[in-house]
Amino acid sequence: MIIVMASCKQEDIDYVVSRIEALGYKGHVLKGVERTVIAAIGDERGKFRLQSLESLPHVEKVVPILKPFKLAGRELRSEPTVIQVGSAQIGGERLCVIAGPCSVESREQMLETARCVKEAGASALRGGAFKPRTSPYSFQGLEEEGLQLLQEAAQRYDMPFVTEVMTPEQVPLVERYADILQVGARNMQNFSLLKAAGKARKPVFLKRGMMSTINELLMSAEYILAEGNAQVILCERGIRTFETETRNTLDLSAVPVLKQLTHLPVVVDPSHSTGHWGLVNPMAKAAVVAGADGLMIEVHPRPSEAFSDGPQSLTPVHFHQLMDEIRRLLEIVGKTL
Ligand code: PEP
Ligand code: MN
Repeated sequence: MIIVMASCKQEDIDYVVSRIEALGYKGHVLKGVERTVIAAIGDERGKFRLQSLESLPHVEKVVPILKPFKLAGRELRSEPTVIQVGSAQIGGERLCVIAGPCSVESREQMLETARCVKEAGASALRGGAFKPRTSPYSFQGLEEEGLQLLQEAAQRYDMPFVTEVMTPEQVPLVERYADILQVGARNMQNFSLLKAAGKARKPVFLKRGMMSTINELLMSAEYILAEGNAQVILCERGIRTFETETRNTLDLSAVPVLKQLTHLPVVVDPSHSTGHWGLVNPMAKAAVVAGADGLMIEVHPRPSEAFSDGPQSLTPVHFHQLMDEIRRLLEIVGKTL
């Protein structure tokens, strides 16, 4: 249920929140430009008791929410969420390009990649230290050492970095190093991980599961938001279809659909969705035109030597070219890097 407040003081809001909590709900205050609304989160079965709060002074009305993703949806908050992480901004009038290797492999590889992507105009670095691999015999990541290497490279080139966290237990460790915590496609519905990420103090980069609907992606974002972490970035990274020419099928229509449904920023990953470096450039540009707030792109100094996802990784030269083309596109779509 949503409690729409008439113009009022903070103490009136606090009072309504205390009444909501006394009824066993969590009260989420959302201050908009025009008005303040309070979302009562909890068991929908007791909502008739919340309805009686309408008799309180300063409460304009109590209305049921139509969409199940109350905090992620646009019904409660129409202004877009803009996430500022160091020098990078995700959402709003800027396009955030997050680039780096699939896996952190060595100090040299990380420093070289960070230098190249920074020179080309990337705003954030990526790299996996904990890798979710289909096979238990594949490279699993450098773990904490990988986090240290990411941190060193990110600091040297003044970029925040995104890295994946795979279990709730890893959240405190990864949060100590990373600027943005990634929840990967395979974990999109790992609800204990989502709850742990919701308690973290860092923004969460949530990738769409390869067999998940847009609605399910938003419900997963809702888990994080409901724990009090308002900084969620959604990522379309391709879904599984009958098509086999690409690794996954990039659902670009998810971008405008998400923009209609949610205020959260939307990033597109053309690397994991296509699986081929030659397809990354056209799909990255298409994503910008479709309205994405950012791109996540795998870049490796020598893709043929990569420990993982070499075939879809751009060389620094190709990444540079792509960034030049994106700069020209941004003039048309009215954004900047
Ligand atoms: C990744 O970004 O490194 C990754 C594993 O992506 P996804 O979860 O989308 O497969
Ligand atoms: Mn990868």
